[in-house]
Amino acid sequence: MGSVGAKEVPVLLTADQRRIDGRRLDELRPLKITAGALKQADGSAFVEWGLNKVMAAVYGPREVHPRHLQVNDKAIVQCRYNMAAFSVDERKRPGLDRRSQEISKVIAEAFESVIFAEEYPRTSIDVYIEVLQANAGTRCAGVVAASVALADAGIPMVDLLPSVAVGKIDGHIALDLKKEEDNFGEADLPMALVPQSGRLVLLQMEGHMTRDELSQALDLGVSGCRQIYTVMKSALRERYDAGGVARTEVAA
Ligand code: UDP
Repeated sequence: MGSVGAKEVPVLLTADQRRIDGRRLDELRPLKITAGALKQADGSAFVEWGLNKVMAAVYGPREVHPRHLQVNDKAIVQCRYNMAAFSVDERKRPGLDRRSQEISKVIAEAFESVIFAEEYPRTSIDVYIEVLQANAGTRCAGVVAASVALADAGIPMVDLLPSVAVGKIDGHIALDLKKEEDNFGEADLPMALVPQSGRLVLLQMEGHMTRDELSQALDLGVSGCRQIYTVMKSALRERYDAGGVARTEVAA
């Protein structure tokens, strides 16, 4: 531990560029995706990614509630990201706060840009994301889970949306930050990618990066998303090969 002012800062990167959990700068945390994890939902997926555990459930296309949100020529996409009170070290106050409202909004917008909503006029596609255990990158784990859940529900989309956060730790660009790296690092850049076209449909940033670092971070994020995309597709393939619940594991 080093210290900055009163704050104890862990060593995030060793001299040979190994991270707290032994990963290299361009390595993902281990990722497992279980497609069709819930019986009652139209589509679902459970994502275990490092220490994150995130469940997504999709309902619809179904009747819009509240009714005045209904749109005549397309479906609306409603998303609720929620972090369970027990998901973090310091108990989180239950319920939707500003952070979860913001995350719900950016995730809904990302999916609106890939779902063929005009095929289901006057309906709602409802996406629920429940974070059961959090260790940074939960919005990205939520996008990955929701994306597989939407495909599991048979919702037509341009493509799946792999998602990952890239950041800056001890002056170096690093893929898929874990909690300590997110807390004590210099920047955090969550993104979601349409793999076929390379279009980014979610991009946020906290902290500071130079223009060159940003460009390096985007490249690293895109290559991370492509690895995640492979795991997402395998999870769906296994689900339909098995005809039931299937789990795909890829140790990064
Ligand atoms: N976190 C927490 N309490 C909160 C919000 C977040 O402990 O009320 C932790 C949690 O581990 C989360 C991490 O801080 O994953 C980073 O949160 P951020 O807002 O950057 O979103 P995320 O990286 O999860 O998408």
